[in-house]
Parts: sequence; structure tokens; C-alpha cells
Amino acid sequence: MNRNEMKIEFGSDPRNESFARVVVASFMTRTNPTLEEVADVKTAVSEAVTNSIIHGYGQKEGTIEIRAYIEERKLYIEITDYGCGIEDVEKAMEPMFTTGKDGRSGMGFSFMEAFMDELTVESEPGKGTTGKMAKKIGAG
Ligand code: ATP
Ligand code: MG
Repeated sequence: MNRNEMKIEFGSDPRNESFARVVVASFMTRTNPTLEEVADVKTAVSEAVTNSIIHGYGQKEGTIEIRAYIEERKLYIEITDYGCGIEDVEKAMEPMFTTGKDGRSGMGFSFMEAFMDELTVESEPGKGTTGKMAKKIGAG
């Protein structure tokens, strides 16, 4: 782990979604972000963690990990679950694609892409999913 890096691990209880959002927001304060940048990052973290809880683990209990670090005014965030994984990542990332039943809009990945500068998703069915995001802070 590099010197400015952080890693947290928490259970897939939906109440931990707001916890995760606040942890990343407070970690990034050292970069002197604008309120808008903080709001963007919080939204992206929320979407990723919610996906891990709802789609990755479903009714099951599991662990979610968040790793974050800052390099040259760029914030990197990796969110990992060990849930069901995604069969076709490219398709899952299309706007409005959802396998959710209860009124999901299928826009989570699109929001992550819109609010962050970079998003890549690595997933293996039966093993889990890692979303890697990055955003330049202080660009505006
Ligand atoms: P919304 O985010 O708008 O509520 P959604 O979660 O279905 O709806 P996305 O967040 O874009 O939309 O995700 C698209 C699809 O990708 C999901 O419906 C699900 O099938 C799959 N998916 C996303 N994240 C995971 C994950 N961590 N584990 C397993 N499947 C996932
Ligand atoms: Mg989603």
C-alpha cells in the first residue's frame, strides 16, 4: 500500500452505502476539491456500492472493499465485491441496461462515467466485480 492510500472493508448491509460515500468524501478533502467534485465522487461511489449490494450479493451477505489513493491531483477509487459477477460487462455498461426488477433504470454505470473521468469494470462470473474509477480534482 502506498503512503497516501486507504482501504476499507465493510459488509453488504445497505446502510453501509452512505458510510462508504462519506469515507471517500472525507479522504479526498486533502486535495481541496470543490463541492461539486465531492458531490460527483459521492454519487459515483454510491452507485458502485449499491450495485455490489443489490446485484453482486443480492440476498446474500458479503464483503465490499474500497481502495483509494491520490496521485498528481487525481483521485483513484477501486470498489470490489466477491458476488455473482457480470456475464457481459460491455452490455451491462450500456445506458438503460438492467437486470434489476424493482424499477431500476439501468443508469448506474452511465452516472459513474459521467461524474468521473475514467471507469473500467473487471468482472468474472461467480467470482466478483471490481470497478475502477478516476477523477482529476481541481481541474475547474
Ligand atoms: P440503477 O443503477 O439505475 O438503479 P442498475 O443497477 O440496473 O440500475 P447499472 O448500475 O448501470 O444499472 O448496472 C447495470 C447492470 O449491471 C445491473 O442491472 C446488473 O445486471 C449489472 N451489475 C452492475 N454492477 C454489478 C455487480 N457489482 N455485480 C453483479 N452485477 C452487476
Ligand atoms: Mg446500479
